[in-house]
Amino acid sequence: MSAGYFPRREKVGIEDLFKGLVTASHILHHHGVLDAYGHISVRSPDNAATFWMACNISPALISTPDDLVEYTVEDASEVEKDAKAGYIERYIHSEIYKRFPAVNSVVHSHCSHVLPFCISGVPLKAVIHMAGFLGTSVPVWDISSSYSGGLPHDLLVRNKERGASLSVAFKPATSTGFLYSKVRSALPSQIGGTQEPDKEPNHAVVLMQGHGFTTLAHGIEEAVYQAIYTKEAAKAQMAATMLGNAYFGQVVEGKVDVQGGGKIKSASVKANCDIKSLSDREAHDAWDSLQASIARPWGLWCREVEINPLYRNQCPAGDD
Ligand SMILES: [Zn+2]
Repeated sequence: MSAGYFPRREKVGIEDLFKGLVTASHILHHHGVLDAYGHISVRSPDNAATFWMACNISPALISTPDDLVEYTVEDASEVEKDAKAGYIERYIHSEIYKRFPAVNSVVHSHCSHVLPFCISGVPLKAVIHMAGFLGTSVPVWDISSSYSGGLPHDLLVRNKERGASLSVAFKPATSTGFLYSKVRSALPSQIGGTQEPDKEPNHAVVLMQGHGFTTLAHGIEEAVYQAIYTKEAAKAQMAATMLGNAYFGQVVEGKVDVQGGGKIKSASVKANCDIKSLSDREAHDAWDSLQASIARPWGLWCREVEINPLYRNQCPAGDD
């Protein structure tokens, strides 16, 4: 098993990369981030102009290098003409790799725990320290602004234009508070820092209206970590909201029309529950601290899927 695909590694063998990508797909399924849908990709270590992701099969069933397809960053076309059919939404990945040269891995998910924050207008927050990478705001991208031509309005990122529109949401014209790019530019280059903050995303996660979420990272392990803890943060925020409303209750404020027989003329319901989320400084520092420990959960997650007979990783190990 690959020791990791962190940016500090000078070179990653293609065998290790394939084995790691298959394991990552299994982990994301095991943790409920992916079901029969969703995907993870990785940029080619020897060619920044291409990336790898599975062909059109469920993530839990990816098993061998033959299940993986190499695509061009330019237009998400197959490098090999006789490649197996792939996922329609590979444009999510190609356009993110195109816009952000330092990004090496992308996860796209329809996770049911995150979906309520994609449809309700309730902002997803970094309510736990393990999700500091969420920062103080998580954008919600609406695909409807990029519908064009005769393509179906089916919310699927099925061409370059829709993928490019999504990629812009990771670095909107104005961002405040915690910025992913600032964390990166503060790190030494040997451990993933960048001298080009303009080419770094400002957000690690973008929610997709009525659809799911996408997260980007500088390596497979980091992308998997962010995807799993995006789900965990959503679960915690949802549970805390329900618990708080049940415990603290809600107050109805308004006016009663006495002469009109006691009818309520105007009223609003005010929740007493107040969910506290990480401050800008806490989000920044929590993510800064936890990045160094990602190898620990990665080792556990690898073992969990290794001993589960559902998952079969038949990619040969590399020599390193
Ligand atoms: Zn999708």
